[in-house]
Amino acid sequence: MSVVNLKAENLNPFDIAQHYFDQAADRLQLDEGMRAILRTPKRCLTVSIPVRMDDGSYKVFIGHRVAHNMARGPAKGGIRFHPDVNLDEVKALASWMTWKCACLDLPFGGGKGGVAVDPRQLSKLELERMTRRYTSEILPMIGPDKDIPAPDVYTDSQTMAWIMDTYSMTHGTTTLGVVTGKPLALGGSKGRDRATARGVQFTLRHACAARKMTIKGSTVAIQGYGNAGSHLAQLLHDEGAIIVAVSDSKGGIHDPKGIDPKAIEAHKKSGASIPTFKSGTKISNEQLLELPVDILVPAALENQITGANAERVQARVIAEAANGPTTPLADDILFKRGITVVPDILANAGGVTVSYFEWVQDFYSFFWDDDEVDRRLEVYMKKAFDSVAAKAAEHHCSLRGGAYVLAVGRVYEATMVRGIFP
Ligand code: NAD
Repeated sequence: MSVVNLKAENLNPFDIAQHYFDQAADRLQLDEGMRAILRTPKRCLTVSIPVRMDDGSYKVFIGHRVAHNMARGPAKGGIRFHPDVNLDEVKALASWMTWKCACLDLPFGGGKGGVAVDPRQLSKLELERMTRRYTSEILPMIGPDKDIPAPDVYTDSQTMAWIMDTYSMTHGTTTLGVVTGKPLALGGSKGRDRATARGVQFTLRHACAARKMTIKGSTVAIQGYGNAGSHLAQLLHDEGAIIVAVSDSKGGIHDPKGIDPKAIEAHKKSGASIPTFKSGTKISNEQLLELPVDILVPAALENQITGANAERVQARVIAEAANGPTTPLADDILFKRGITVVPDILANAGGVTVSYFEWVQDFYSFFWDDDEVDRRLEVYMKKAFDSVAAKAAEHHCSLRGGAYVLAVGRVYEATMVRGIFP
């Protein structure tokens, strides 16, 4: 039975991750011992990172790396630099990666890392020294066949290049596959930038087809206009959808006639925020979620659709580009109301899938063109969508329930056939 009380809205990521795991474990009838094995992180490392600042003083930052599960392959997951990073959050995010990789049937487990730091307060040289020292401290854990980091909040391809170089200098060999999300000049993959949006688009096609809808002609609202949201707006627009609302952290705009993503992109590039765009009606991020649209895509933050607003959501299909945008309470309400939710561990898994492609290309030192990346991504997303939908049908539950049953079941199976050593 689930041990987490979600009667009151509980927005703690660790509890939410546990809740979905417990639901799947109940459906799979796993015993307590197996639940403990699958729930407990395999390795957690906390390190201190002394950094010489530009003014000659020293500062110490605290960093973590967690490998949650490696039953199906090396751990895989991002590294975030953010003042709120703490070990509990890193553990929760690492377990999320285990289920996401298993859901897509990638030969990876789940990991995550982070440093409690506000990188915007550091100069570029301080940031480089901090990144290299953190890498050096977590060297016992990472490696192309052990644990493979990637970018996350406030880390990027430059961060990955420093990590790759530090690892390579220490080992005396150039090791491209130790991180993904690298620059193209350093073994990165074509198509990585828009991979998450492409994955959302592919899963949306299937979710729409199941509801006898098409992306073409559907009205769409997208919350968040960063990497995931902006690429998705363009891809869906190109497919014939009508993008009627978009937003950023300052708020959004609504225009039932449709918004041209290229014009929004140019507006954002000029340094302006979305609510000051020349056409459409100014709306809040909360209003955007409740618009009368066919498709809603939260692509910004967690805990946006909650028990407080789920009854007012009007979309027929929701695709979670963001991680954790729907609370468990809201998820139940949406399911009962017959709204299709493509869950985060499926919808936004295009990013980690192309990370997997990058790792494969690095091993072979043989690189694919954009079309090849897209073609293979579509195959993975379709297979995953079909498998999730089949599990949901079998267990009479939502796609999220199906995704977790599929993912937890795969990790359980790998654990059983490996056996518990010794
Ligand atoms: P990003 O930093 O590029 O963009 C975030 C966007 O959200 C920005 O437009 C920002 O203005 C907006 N935003 C911030 N606060 C907001 C608020 N309160 N209300 C509305 N909008 C707000 O981030 P991203 O890479 O696009 O990631 C967005 C989400 O997608 C995150 O949940 C992330 O974990 C998830 N995700 C991203 C990827 C990826 O490859 N980029 C992969 C998997 C999941």
